[in-house]
Amino acid sequence: MELDELVSLRPVPGAGLLVTVTNRCPLGCAHCSASSTPTGQEPDAAALTGFVGSFQAGHAPRVMMLTGGEPLLRPGLVVELARRAQAAGTRTAVLTGAFFAVREGLADPIRDVIDAVDHFSVSIDAFHEREVPRASAFRLLHRVLERGTAASIHAIGATSEDGYLDELAHDVHRAFDGAVPILASTLRPVGRAALWVSAEPATTRPRTLPCAMAAWPVVAPDGTVLACCNQIVVDRRPVPAHLRLGHIAQDGWERIEAAALASPMLRLIRTTGPEYLARLTAPRESADLPLGHCVSCRALDPAKLAGHDAVRLAAGPAGRLLDLESARRQVEAGAEDFLRRHASGRHAALVHARAR
Ligand code: SF4
Ligand code: SF4
Repeated sequence: MELDELVSLRPVPGAGLLVTVTNRCPLGCAHCSASSTPTGQEPDAAALTGFVGSFQAGHAPRVMMLTGGEPLLRPGLVVELARRAQAAGTRTAVLTGAFFAVREGLADPIRDVIDAVDHFSVSIDAFHEREVPRASAFRLLHRVLERGTAASIHAIGATSEDGYLDELAHDVHRAFDGAVPILASTLRPVGRAALWVSAEPATTRPRTLPCAMAAWPVVAPDGTVLACCNQIVVDRRPVPAHLRLGHIAQDGWERIEAAALASPMLRLIRTTGPEYLARLTAPRESADLPLGHCVSCRALDPAKLAGHDAVRLAAGPAGRLLDLESARRQVEAGAEDFLRRHASGRHAALVHARAR
């Protein structure tokens, strides 16, 4: 499974699942959005395998993305999850910071992961390179391709104009001749980066911004299943009621998928954006305050919105249709279009790999 296919499914409700395999990580990158440490929290292995074991053909996400922290601190669990997912027709991608790549050779557990997953992605950016040299990460990517698994790089620049991204793209092309695509993002003020990266002023963002991040459920380190990957939603408890889908210890995929797809608030967040919902109940004098996309969303009050006409409409077939149509249009526009809106727009075309 190549990177552009993975990205093109991102706006489709329930097409994917993001799993925090652990919030532990031996590296200490200054920009880490998950604020991972060597002692971070992680979901119970039995609960996680049970949850993925609840996938059934016809009731399973199309892709499962295993992230962290550093998921390859639990390589046996990654292999087990990938095998269980595959039995239900779900393909698996893993994203690693590649702490192990500084040593030559491929340890057996890492090789087993490469063989078990459908896509293997490595984080490379200025911060990771202080811990894992680029040459080591490239050596690992060569081994991944040699074993027949699709590979990609997740890169981060300070901004879209950051020359680091251009220089990295040039180097990657020279080393892999187009076989390794790149998902290039820019720094966000979340996790450890919140200490030193400034937020984009809310006034520069469009007021109506549908949120595709509410399409794939996310398993947090404590096993809670959330409606989106916003780091504050992942980290803080209690979770706003409209963004909590369940827990891996009690709920199987079918129930999580139903909660994600049928929620009228999530349907409206995905299609009209959270600020539209916020304005429905905001006092007239504060309706134009530029709070920001996720701040508005987390502050929504489902009880206040429940009786509103728009929410009642979204609960029925019209809401389902609107949700499906919005996803269909985004899929039709493709992975490049998606990344122009949600990542480093100038580097969106790097998402494609050449045919191997
Ligand atoms: S490798 Fe990833 S998870 Fe680990 S500290 Fe760096 S950014 Fe965080
Ligand atoms: S707008 Fe809401 S659903 Fe979307 S990422 Fe932000 S908090 Fe999550």
